[in-house]
Amino acid sequence: MSGSAQLRAWVERAVQAVPRKRFVPPEQRSRAGDDTALPIGCAQTISQPSLVRYMTEQLELTPTSRVLEIGTGSGYQTAILAELAAAVFTIERIPTLAGRARGLLQELGYDNISFRTGDGARGWPEAAPFEAIIVTAAAVRMPPALLDQLAPNGRLVAPLGGTQETQMLFRFDKDASGQVHGRELCGVRFVPLVTATEP
Ligand code: SAH
Repeated sequence: MSGSAQLRAWVERAVQAVPRKRFVPPEQRSRAGDDTALPIGCAQTISQPSLVRYMTEQLELTPTSRVLEIGTGSGYQTAILAELAAAVFTIERIPTLAGRARGLLQELGYDNISFRTGDGARGWPEAAPFEAIIVTAAAVRMPPALLDQLAPNGRLVAPLGGTQETQMLFRFDKDASGQVHGRELCGVRFVPLVTATEP
């Protein structure tokens, strides 16, 4: 198997290990197996599984990775990261969602996740640098703190764009010397990143 096929299979195992129906509200449970985004309350959504899988693959995690996630939401993506990485640091700005996700992830037995409620655009400087960073809400421009907190040779995946119609998923790679190279992956639709931190 090639390296990328191995990575895909490893990510797929993690996706299979996480019961999506536990992360959606009871009234959405019959649709939990569909490959669509679903409402999770507080005007937010859980992404479709195929996009979660794709974004996770782009992070190229290893069992020793420390990963930062902005936008805990339901905690579904968080659980998949926690299956694959050594440690996950996740930030959510809406306390109701943050509390619910924390309770569920603890109930499911994950002990490698650290939670914070607040503005993720500032990152988590005390825990930086991170080998991988994933943002699951769309900013107009990339918050500079997040690029700063990416480790050399690290990867950051984030949707950027002001309106849902024009959003694009980006991958930023930081090289060994600290230079950042960004490229477009595909068009996407995410809820907005709500931040007081002006890039
Ligand atoms: N990955 C999530 C998707 C959640 S939707 C899942 O699997 O369910 C995006 C989330 O980003 C929302 O919960 C929203 O409240 C949160 N968010 C928006 N702006 C944020 C910010 N500045 N800091 C942290 N979280 C933010």
